[in-house]
Amino acid sequence: MTARKLSPGGLPVYRVDEIPDGMATATMLRRQRRRPAQGQPAVAMLFYHGNKHAPLYEVSASATLPALSPRRQAAWTAARTCARCATTRDTPLARNHGGRRLCLGCNRLERLAAARPAWLTLRQRAVDWARTAILDSDVVLIALRQLGHGCPIEVHAIALDGQPLVDILVWPKWPSPKVARTPGAIDADRLVPYLMPLIGRRLIYVGTGWTQTPMGVLSAASELWWRYETSLADPSIKEHRDDEFRQRWTDWHARTWSNGDGLWTGYHNHYGLERIDVHGDSAADLTAAMREGLTDMARDRHPDGRPACPWLPPTGTTPCGARPFLNGLCRTHGGDVDQEVPDGR
Ligand SMILES: [Zn+2]
Ligand SMILES: [Zn+2]
Repeated sequence: MTARKLSPGGLPVYRVDEIPDGMATATMLRRQRRRPAQGQPAVAMLFYHGNKHAPLYEVSASATLPALSPRRQAAWTAARTCARCATTRDTPLARNHGGRRLCLGCNRLERLAAARPAWLTLRQRAVDWARTAILDSDVVLIALRQLGHGCPIEVHAIALDGQPLVDILVWPKWPSPKVARTPGAIDADRLVPYLMPLIGRRLIYVGTGWTQTPMGVLSAASELWWRYETSLADPSIKEHRDDEFRQRWTDWHARTWSNGDGLWTGYHNHYGLERIDVHGDSAADLTAAMREGLTDMARDRHPDGRPACPWLPPTGTTPCGARPFLNGLCRTHGGDVDQEVPDGR
């Protein structure tokens, strides 16, 4: 890298990412246990922090600092060595919350290992939920999809065997003026006959928002939500926040998804292992993906494989990996032995 200009003393000026090989400031030399030799002239200037200058020296012409005492040398090395993987840096490592000095990768590894028992507990709860759901003959999988405020709402519902129960396009009471009336759409306040197949059923749903149940969304679109006797949220249609599919899928799939080193990459908008996109597909695609995903969840057919104890040794980076109990840890590492994880395979 050529210097962009000369300093007032006639030396070339470099920025931090431009320092040529073999040049270092006094601070950088000290990290290598060296210092500028007696009378060693600067060969260039470092320009940093937007307003500061520091002289740069030839490393080869600099002098070695006197050796540290064995005790100080040990402390110097310890401050620059990762307590887990033993890699060394030329600057001291920060201490984590446990007071240990860890490199960035190991710090992340420990934090993920600490979070994993809670994730594995959520995953197991999602599996239990799915196992109960696929045995419940009342269950209906229902998806609502609306492209934007005031747009028609696709409503698609299937039974667990895939039989379609509801397949309609709902025209909201107050449509967006920008949307042309879709042929075949049903006015929101004339929905009741189309929703009859849902009477007495339990809805497992993907809503158009995080907070509203399907009948809540349709009641709002019909402007009937505020009159209880005409609200579409009939008490015989069982809707419960715990049956929101997206949350269960996230608990089961996304929180524990890893790319081999335990790092979360997150596909929480995709249902079914085919990764159906919640934003890109029709309500019918969504119910089909929910059906597939529910089966995978009930079998705990997870892309990560079986749950494994995430306990990490004090040094080293290979987690325990033994079969965990319900709290996510194995017997040796604090597993809750009263509750064994049922084997889904
Ligand atoms: Zn490390
Ligand atoms: Zn273990």
